[in-house]
This record gives sequence, structure tokens and C-alpha cells, in this order.
Amino acid sequence: METAQTSDISQENREKKEILNRYRGLLRSCRRKLDEDEKKLIRKAFNVALEAHKGVRRKSGEPYIYHPIAVARIVAEEIGLGSTSIVCALLHDVVEDTDMTLKDIEGMFGKKVASIIDGLTKMSGVFDASSSLQAENFRKMLLTLAEDVRVILIKLADRLHNMRTLASMERTKQLKIASETLYLYAPLAHRLGLNAIKTELEDLGLKFTEPEIYHEIDQKLKDTQAERTRYIQRFIVPLREALHEQKFKFRIFGRPKSVYSIWTKMKNKNIPFEEVYDIFAIRIIIDTTEDQEKTDCWRVYSQVTDFYYPNPDRLRDWISTPKANGYEALHTTVMGPNGQWVEVQIRSERMNEVAELGYAAHWKYKEGRAHEDHLEEWLRKLRESISNPNDNALDFIDDFKLNLFADEIFVFTPKGEMRSMPVNSTALDFAFDIHSEVGAKCIGAKVNHKLVPLSHKLNSGDQVEVLTSNKQSPKADWINYVVTAKAKSHIKTLLKEEKVKLSEEGKAILKRKFRHLKLNFDDKTINALYAFLKLPDQQELYYRMAVGHIGQDELKAFLASKDKITESKSTLPSLEQLVSAARGKAKADNLVIGDNLDNLEYKLAPCCNPIPGDDVFGFVTVNEGIKIHRVNCPNAIELMSNHAYRIVKAKWTSQKLLSFLAGIRIIGIDKLGLVNNITQVISTELNVNMRSLTFDTNDGTFEGMIMVFVHDTAHLTNLLEKLKKVDGVVQVMRLDSQT
Ligand code: MN
Repeated sequence: METAQTSDISQENREKKEILNRYRGLLRSCRRKLDEDEKKLIRKAFNVALEAHKGVRRKSGEPYIYHPIAVARIVAEEIGLGSTSIVCALLHDVVEDTDMTLKDIEGMFGKKVASIIDGLTKMSGVFDASSSLQAENFRKMLLTLAEDVRVILIKLADRLHNMRTLASMERTKQLKIASETLYLYAPLAHRLGLNAIKTELEDLGLKFTEPEIYHEIDQKLKDTQAERTRYIQRFIVPLREALHEQKFKFRIFGRPKSVYSIWTKMKNKNIPFEEVYDIFAIRIIIDTTEDQEKTDCWRVYSQVTDFYYPNPDRLRDWISTPKANGYEALHTTVMGPNGQWVEVQIRSERMNEVAELGYAAHWKYKEGRAHEDHLEEWLRKLRESISNPNDNALDFIDDFKLNLFADEIFVFTPKGEMRSMPVNSTALDFAFDIHSEVGAKCIGAKVNHKLVPLSHKLNSGDQVEVLTSNKQSPKADWINYVVTAKAKSHIKTLLKEEKVKLSEEGKAILKRKFRHLKLNFDDKTINALYAFLKLPDQQELYYRMAVGHIGQDELKAFLASKDKITESKSTLPSLEQLVSAARGKAKADNLVIGDNLDNLEYKLAPCCNPIPGDDVFGFVTVNEGIKIHRVNCPNAIELMSNHAYRIVKAKWTSQKLLSFLAGIRIIGIDKLGLVNNITQVISTELNVNMRSLTFDTNDGTFEGMIMVFVHDTAHLTNLLEKLKKVDGVVQVMRLDSQT
């Protein structure tokens, strides 16, 4: 807080004016018409928030009140919620950050507002960077869904504004908040049908986790814009004419895909920007009545396909069966000019509003509207899947996330009842969807009257009859057969019960063995044994004992090493101790790595092979010291988002003496002498040593993996550039992992 500057009177007046300006902007932006009472209530909430946050500033130096006003504006304008939500958004940080209590809020604004604020305050730990309980907080947050979806919607608005203003935070906080956003908030927005917000969260998430990639793609989109616009015009012209002739009221335009979705495609398909063919989609939005919209969308489809040939595999009818998040539209991919596939999305203005504002906002809180079955159904399933309190919170989040992004299929029971399941669901998922008992006893199923195994993947339209047997019990590999959160969590619970039973038996066996070996059966020895066998805990040790994974040989090896162990520390340090030790070592805020590789307390993570110059962080592990990961490691988002308290800042020292292992992937046209040319480039490059090289050829193309030792990123980039110039080479990229 800069008290010296705020004494400046004209500055203070300017700020007061600006605050009022922003408040008026909020009122103007409301999508719902507000009556006088509602306006009064919003004014009251604004005044309460203004007073409560008085004198407080955000990291950026702006008055704090800008934040709640901005969140309320997102709630009103971008989600389209009404006055209750606007009031709650204005007050969302009041109980958490100021002296005001929930009782005060209830007295001034009533029970409903107080209960929503309560929900918002309970989730506040999510923002605390030092919290070790993020997963548990996420879970709490999702549980509040059962009470009022508005809590989640306002939380998303809050997160969106924090992401929009993330630039003023320090780098570690940026990474954590952006990772969390990609990990959970964007999927959540998607599931609630808030497309525009989901897209913005993803783009901002990428911008702060991988700024270079973001700016590169963003720049390329700008560079290709003129060309794209010309193409879109050419595509649209005949359609516009035909639709006018048919007397449609409509809008037609081309829309580029988001930076994040382009990046996802590049990553998944391993292709450069230039090869992503669906950089944009054509959208046709028709103004029509609700009872005519389905027919009209198909009439438009018919017009489109009169001009352009459709790809029969790419027709998606989300009008007859909307997506579970409420999305309705007709998608088709057609062959456009120059032999280019173009995606066309057809929807009515009403469908478009659902797609932009989200299902929950559009249906549930529209005054006088009946509750929408789909949203209710989804909430019911959600409640069910999170109602098992024994689940490990982290597992739960992972499983839950699986279902957030999943597309749906529709299958039928023998009686013809329709059920929606995530894509890739199996017969076993279906059994657990019917009932957990049915799942536990499932031995197979009949799909369309044909016998299939548990692992059989279901397709839309399948009719499924589950077969059960009382002799059946859940097996460990069942986890691999299912995709739904519900089935996963039930199987895990059932297996855990089984494991507890076996562990008891294993403990008895180990006791006997210890007696034979004349070892004391005490915690100290047992802890030393499981640490020696690199197991996570005692239970795992007993369990492995019971199933025969540990035998006489392991125990003898332990006995031989035991003398050494008793000499060294008798108890293992806890994770907390390890973390604080690592923090202590990270003097001046940074763990300096790279100066002495032989005497390491840290290791370079094999999942991403960091080299000097990479943006990195340290992750404290129990058995292997500190692991150094790249910030863009495939595992980084999960680590930073769920285990932020184990993250230690790290940076490289500059040195040229040591070499680090890096992987390179090369794709190209198979030519005589090509391998020779590639190895030539590598060996003539100064100080690069090759460790391994594998090449595969297939129908005239080749793919090679090379592991080399380099000093740093500049060294590696230089080598990549030289390899790109080799005749026949089409693509060269750095590999994340050695495997
Ligand atoms: Mn906030």
C-alpha cells in the first residue's frame, strides 16, 4: 500500500470518479432488465463493498473495489445473471478480506445472498498459493454445486478477472494460478456451457504458462488474417445469396479458433501451425422462432451442401440430442474452394445464446422458466459422484476432470430407457451407472443381444443388458476398463476394502518372518524395510507380503543392508521437513542448479529432460530429493496445481562445462544417405555428443529419435536449426521424454 501517494487530492478525486464510472458501466451492461428495487439493492451492495474495501489496493496498485465491480460486470454481461448474483459478486470478497461477517450480510441482504457469499468464502483457500489443500478445496467447491450453481458461476467470473489481471502478479503465482485455471476452471466452464469464458480462460492460461508458444501462435494468426478473410469471403458469397433468396434472416461469418485449441491440435497431432487445417469455422446464425428452428437449421444445411460437398463422417447433430452442457447446433465439414476442408456451424439465435452464456445461466435462473431436465440430471450425477467421502481428494479431482471434457453417447436399457454416458464408456461403466451393486457383480453384458466382455466399448444407440453373478468380485484391472468417475470411484473403494483385508493377513505373515530372522517387529524396523523396498507406506508392504510380491530374498537383502541403515538417521524425515530444507537451500529465493552435478540434492526429471536455459522449477519428492522439471513439462500443470506447497523456485547458473541430455525427433522423406547426413551435422556441431539414435522407416517416410548431450537451450536450438536444413528433413522438434 502506498499511503504517500494517496494523499494526493486530485489523484484521489480522479479515482473516485473512475470508481463511479465503472459502477455505471456495470449497470449499463446488465442483460436483464432491472426494476427499481433491484437497482436499489445493487446500489446498496456497491456502497457496502466500497466502504469495506476502502483504502485497500490490488497488486497492480489500483483500488481494490475495481475487482468486485469487474467480477459483477462479468456476471451480468458475460454470463447474463440477474440482480441476486450481481449483489453477491459485488460482495464476494467482503467476508473473506474485511471485518464484515456473514451475519452482517444476512442482516442487510437476506438469507439467500448470505448463503451464496458463504459458499464463495469457503472456497477462498483455493487462491492461497501456500495452501497444501487445493484438491480438498476444489472438492468443497464442487460440493457447493449441489446447493447453488450461482456460487460456481460467480467463482468463475472471479477467476476470469484474476486471470485478466494476472500480469501484475509475480511469476510463481502466475504459474500456479494459470495452471489451476487450465487444470480445473476451464473444464468446469466448459461443463457449464460457458464457451466464451472457457475459451478465454484457456487462452490466458496458455499465455502465462507458456508465453513463447502463445505469442508465436497469436502472431501467426495475425500474419495470416488477410489471407484467411479473403478465403472466407469467397466461401460465403454464394451461400449468402442463396439464403437471401430463401428469405432467411441470418448472420454468416468466419471465426478463427482460439490460440489454445490450435496449440492443442499442434501438440496432439505433432504438427506445425501451418498444417492445422481447421484454423477457422464458418458460423451461420439464423433468426427464427423456437418451433421452427430445427427445421430451419436443416434447411440451411441443405443449402450449404448444395454448394459444397460434405464429409459424411463429420456431420454432428446436436439439435436432436444436445450435448450434456446444453450446446445445440448442427456441425458439418465441407470441401471448400482450393480443396480445403471447412467446418460449418449452423444454429439459431437462441442456440447461440445458450452457447455463449452457458446453460445454467440461460435456463435455470430465467424468471418463470421451468427447470431444465438436462442440467438437473447433470447436477444429480455430479452429486452422486462426489458423495463418497472416503475418496482421496486428488484421485477424485482427476476422475472428476475426466468427465468434465467428455463427449456423450446415448445408450438404452433393455426396457428402452435412454441414458447418456461419456464417450468411450464400457459395459462395466454402464453397469456401475445402473447401480454400484450391479457394477460390483458384473460378469459381462449383452449389447444388441450379443454377448460382450466387461471392457467392451459402447456406441451411441446400443441397447445394453448387464449380466451379473453373485460369485463375482471387483478385480484390480477393472480400473483400466472404465472411464466414468462414478465407476472409478466405486471400484477404488471396493478394492481398498479388499486391500485392507489382505494387508491384515500380510502383517501376520511378516510378523512370523521377523521372528525367524530375529528382527524386532517395531515401527522403526518396519519403516526402514518399506523405505528399503521403495514402497510408500506400511500398508503397501503388508499387502505385497500377502500377495507374495515380497519373499525371502528381499528380506535377506534388507538384513544385509540393515547395519548401514541403523548407523544413518533412524527415522525418515517428513515431507514437510524436506520442503523446508529445500526452501532453506533455495537461498535468495532460487534453487541454483547446474553448478555441481556430481554432488546433487536434486535430479533432472526424466519426463521432460530440462537443460540450462529452460524455464524450470524444483519439486520436492520423498525418496529422490528435489526433481527439476521444465515449466512446460507434460506433468507440470498437475504438479503446480495440486502440490504447490512442494514447489521450489529454481534457476540455472550460467556455465559451459557440463552437458545435459536432450531428445530430438526428426521426421522426413526417406532418402539414400539421409542418416549419414544427419549424424554428420551432429558430429560436426561443436561439443555435441550423441548417446543414441533410432530410425524407423515406413512407406518412404522416416522418423528418428536422437539423444544428444548439449550445454543449454541456445546450443540445442542451434543444432535443431541445422538439422532442419538437411535435405529430406521435414520436421525437427525437441522431445520431452527419453522413452
Ligand atoms: Mn475475488
